[in-house]
Amino acid sequence: MAKIILTGDRPTGRLHIGHYVGSLRERVKLQNSGEFDKIFIMIADAQALTDNADNPEKVRQNIIEVALDYLACGLDPEKSIIFIQSQIPQLCELSFYYMNLVTVSRLQRNPTVKAEIQARNFEASIPVGFFTYPISQAADITAFQATTVPVGEDQMPMIEQTREIVRKFNITYGEALTEPDILLPSNEACLRLPGLDGKAKMSKSLDNCIYLSETADEIKKKVMNMYTDPEHIRVADPGKIEGNTVFTYLDAFCQPEHFSKYLPDYNNLDELKAHYQRGGLGDVKVKKFLYAILMEYLEPIKKRRTEFEKDIPAVYKMLQEGTRKAEAVAAQTLAAVKDAMRINYFDDAALIAEQAKKFQNK
Ligand code: ATP
Ligand code: MG
Repeated sequence: MAKIILTGDRPTGRLHIGHYVGSLRERVKLQNSGEFDKIFIMIADAQALTDNADNPEKVRQNIIEVALDYLACGLDPEKSIIFIQSQIPQLCELSFYYMNLVTVSRLQRNPTVKAEIQARNFEASIPVGFFTYPISQAADITAFQATTVPVGEDQMPMIEQTREIVRKFNITYGEALTEPDILLPSNEACLRLPGLDGKAKMSKSLDNCIYLSETADEIKKKVMNMYTDPEHIRVADPGKIEGNTVFTYLDAFCQPEHFSKYLPDYNNLDELKAHYQRGGLGDVKVKKFLYAILMEYLEPIKKRRTEFEKDIPAVYKMLQEGTRKAEAVAAQTLAAVKDAMRINYFDDAALIAEQAKKFQNK
């Protein structure tokens, strides 16, 4: 069976370091491994509109920002098909048919949607489109017959929902769809990177992010103001590692060689953590270390982004070309789906002959 990747991001803002460790870094690695037959990367503008219906301009403005972040991180349009969701009408059609295979109570149980409804204060007025976005996500994944979906942990319920839809579809109508597997980051800290404020998840919508495209000064300011252990007041005080965002970010980004480069008094992260817990290690020193490491990742990304920013029409052209290729694949799946559901009346000569016979014998 062909190995196919589908993944993507909502154009609700520029991409941040949570995206980078949760999905983007992995995608680039997979892309360059040569192990996959096809890679589809989707800018999920239609999904972004489900909770930004009153602000389409935000979505429109951020498409190019996300595309630039992709290119800056090393996604390569020669190897990966990058496309815009709303420009592929087959995705809507697939969603429409999948809606019949999912119950309202099943959607209500989705823990990510529940948390997002709360975060957006939607309780009394949930847009139907937002409530059903897990179904539209199943359409996105299955339209490309994806076998592998590299995403952060918050996407687990979506992939599970997709798998259920695929099973139900294939049992009800016959095998036409592929059941995908989720691919999570192997490093635990990267599964769901917390926000700068210590909140459960760094998220564009919560505005608690370090963006990939920020300037060194902005990043420094954010790191220096980061949430640590509120009870670690004096340097001599013992400090907590659990829930301390600075250490979580170090877990996600720090490599052994960073110590000899930037903090040679320690051999590894365990030694640094032990000192912090004992007392005698100040937040500022740890934050400066984190800043140096982050810049090692982010500086080359920013530099590449600046290059791509010089030719914006070329980036739109790349997206248009990717969208054209993606649409051709989605059209094939939609045709297979309609065949399986037997809603292919005009292509079905046997149906027409059978009906003709029925009416002749009347
Ligand atoms: P929004 O707030 O608009 O939902 P977001 O920041 O959650 O934006 P998405 O576009 O929803 O970003 O997510 C894109 C991808 O990045 C998904 O695979 C998701 O799992 C991953 N991701 C997002 N935030 C994080 C995070 N903090 N840690 C790890 N992965 C993340
Ligand atoms: Mg999200």
